[in-house]
Amino acid sequence: MNQFYCSKCEKTFSDGNKDYCKDCNNNLIILDPEFLNCPVCGCKNLYVKKNFNQLLGCFIIFIGAVLVPLTYGISLLVLALFDYLLFRRVEDCLQCYKCKLEFRGANFTGRFDPFDHHIAELYEK
Ligand SMILES: [Zn+2]
Ligand SMILES: [Zn+2]
Repeated sequence: MNQFYCSKCEKTFSDGNKDYCKDCNNNLIILDPEFLNCPVCGCKNLYVKKNFNQLLGCFIIFIGAVLVPLTYGISLLVLALFDYLLFRRVEDCLQCYKCKLEFRGANFTGRFDPFDHHIAELYEK
């Protein structure tokens, strides 16, 4: 099934209007799940990242640490598990090195590597 991507909202739609973004009326781009190059700028370097809120993760660990004296350390265990489940639930998100667009919610069949700052440097200019 084809998906449609709005480069303004950085969102992927698989239903609804296929020509214009329902949020901002921008033209949508057709996302073929087999894409290997950036569908927006054609750059062949994309990377996968966990769309995970780092701050939230730290906060959870902090709460766990604070509760240690009250729960004899059980809180750390529980929250570590919670943290793990939260992290597991987060889907991979593709991002383009060149145009920096995120392809949130996009299904893809290609294999992409995690962020590599050596590659990123090539696009820093
Ligand atoms: Zn939009
Ligand atoms: Zn791009």
